[in-house]
Amino acid sequence: MKTVGLLGGMSWESTANYYKAINEGVNKAMGGLHSAKIVMHSVDFAEIAELQHEDKWQETADILSQAAQGLEKAGADSLLICTNTMHKVADEIAEKVSIPLLHIADATAEVLQQQGVTKVGLLGTRFTMEHDFYKQRLIDKFGIDVVVPNGVQRQLVHDIIYNELVKGNVLPSSRQDYLEVICDLCENGAQAVILGCTEIAMLINQQHTAVPLYDTTQIHSDAAVKFALSDV
Ligand code: GLU
Repeated sequence: MKTVGLLGGMSWESTANYYKAINEGVNKAMGGLHSAKIVMHSVDFAEIAELQHEDKWQETADILSQAAQGLEKAGADSLLICTNTMHKVADEIAEKVSIPLLHIADATAEVLQQQGVTKVGLLGTRFTMEHDFYKQRLIDKFGIDVVVPNGVQRQLVHDIIYNELVKGNVLPSSRQDYLEVICDLCENGAQAVILGCTEIAMLINQQHTAVPLYDTTQIHSDAAVKFALSDV
């Protein structure tokens, strides 16, 4: 079994779910007392969030690249950035290490493709919904059309992430807000919705809506397990 490298802490609430999902995935595949081999570097999210909101992406890339190099030295065979948003600097980070970076949008798009989804709604931080690094990758690399909420809704979705979910606060009123946004995405042609922020599955899951949801935390964790147990 190969060792999984996690760049976590963005936020730790979702990294805890990665840790659980990866261990569960390995145990499901191998049985017995097997669990995943994992090394993790968990950052102080306040520092990263401040830099994001000041548009200082190069500085976030420097911090995360250094952490990624540490993971490689510690024996990681793969690298996962445990947040959709910070994939904005995924290429810069990947360049600094020789282990493969398992990209969260690629893992998600592969599942969408397998299930025949050609037009998908995207929920995440404002950075993920508005900047090109994520949407454009789905369009260019996978031919999947992306619908995002309107401006007011994007701000609402973003604020719920930073003010509530990354602190572990899960409020029924915010769930209702998200479900209304999901309805609008479907009215605009989305056949399914990507939970494109690793905390959103704490708030909504498939029990809350008939619209197919794609949880990036679970999908990314599954990709880590698959790679760890593969022969490549
Ligand atoms: N975990 C979130 C994501 O998947 C947001 C936190 C962050 O900005 O990294 O995008």
